[in-house]
Amino acid sequence: MAAPNHPRNPDSGGWPRVIAHADMDAFYASVEQLDNPSLRGLPVIVGGKSARGVVTSASYEARKFGVRSAMPSVQARKLCPQGIFVPGRMHRYAEISRIVRHVFDQFSPVVEPLSLDEAFLDLTGTERVHGSAIQAARALKLRMKQETGLVVSVGIAPTRMAAKILSDMSKPDGLLSIGPEYLVPFLHALPVERIWGVGRVTLARLNEHGIHTVGDLARRDIGELRSAFGSMGPHLHTLANGIDERPVIGDWQRKSYGEENTFAHDLELKSDELRRVLIAHGEAIARRLRKDEVRARTVSLKLKLARPLGQGRYPILSRSFTLERATNDGAEITRVAIGLLDRVPAGDRIRLAGVHLHNLERADAAQADLFDSRPDDQSKRTRLNRALDAVTSRFGESALTRGLARADRIAPSRRIK
Ligand SMILES: [Mg+2]
Repeated sequence: MAAPNHPRNPDSGGWPRVIAHADMDAFYASVEQLDNPSLRGLPVIVGGKSARGVVTSASYEARKFGVRSAMPSVQARKLCPQGIFVPGRMHRYAEISRIVRHVFDQFSPVVEPLSLDEAFLDLTGTERVHGSAIQAARALKLRMKQETGLVVSVGIAPTRMAAKILSDMSKPDGLLSIGPEYLVPFLHALPVERIWGVGRVTLARLNEHGIHTVGDLARRDIGELRSAFGSMGPHLHTLANGIDERPVIGDWQRKSYGEENTFAHDLELKSDELRRVLIAHGEAIARRLRKDEVRARTVSLKLKLARPLGQGRYPILSRSFTLERATNDGAEITRVAIGLLDRVPAGDRIRLAGVHLHNLERADAAQADLFDSRPDDQSKRTRLNRALDAVTSRFGESALTRGLARADRIAPSRRIK
């Protein structure tokens, strides 16, 4: 049995998550050394040399002298007079960053970038493809070196915060991993400023209360922490005990899908015309969801009322509904969107209508099987949708409407993604 403190992943049957934090070593300075071999082995400092300049990145050779990023360049020059200052080339860093991202994507379907050179990767359940998390991280480090010529350090832990602490501790060219059973003792031994959200001011106040390590914080009474630090007290206490439920969130999960259009003539709220527009939007979004192999749980209806507020502005109303299960079925999306019309006060004509879907989930093979084993009408709908997609991809969107109504576009709709 695992200790009750262990972070749980509600999506994976209660097993702890396996989260990797991958972070390129001295990224900008390393790119400079990569592109200009004469800089290799030398203390390279990326940043402005002027009186107000700041170090944005320092090679490990420069770090030996105490040079750090965010340090004033004046101070860096004092610490390391032989340091070679180079101006940054953001365009080049962004270019390499795309390859870095491509490598990350090869090791997890769920990658959450934090900046140009670091990301969280959810490795939960990737064992079948990449082996253990440590094997995956070794392979990632090797692939990164091959594809970019650069070095990445990786930390692996059941929580995001611990993974990031470990990648940092492992540098340069490091790999550190910690299992759920060691998470709490590991955290407790760290200085308390390692906890996310503990800045200089909070650190000073924690020290005043005799709290110096994460363990000191974890052992304090929550009520005492609340009266001393407000709502941040219990929050820090939770992190100190290794509890951090936030999952890694991939780009695709953050996206939303939407279609909206402004009408040539304002429409009545309860008109068939408006319903037809919503049907067309619902079907169009559903096709895009299926094409991208995702489903969405939240349907939002957006209406612009034909009641000028002056300066070309109009009131915008939005109503949302979250389904029990994610969908990519146009009929279901449309049913919800039309149902949301009942929650809009009558009286205004409508100038613009849009349907948006949020809260995305990947419609992977496992889910598709589950979906097909649902009651008959569900799997029939899945087959119908497949047939719809086949026809529209061959003959275009206007070739089909579901037979509910002709979904004429009053004006071309705008795709939003
Ligand atoms: Mg980095």
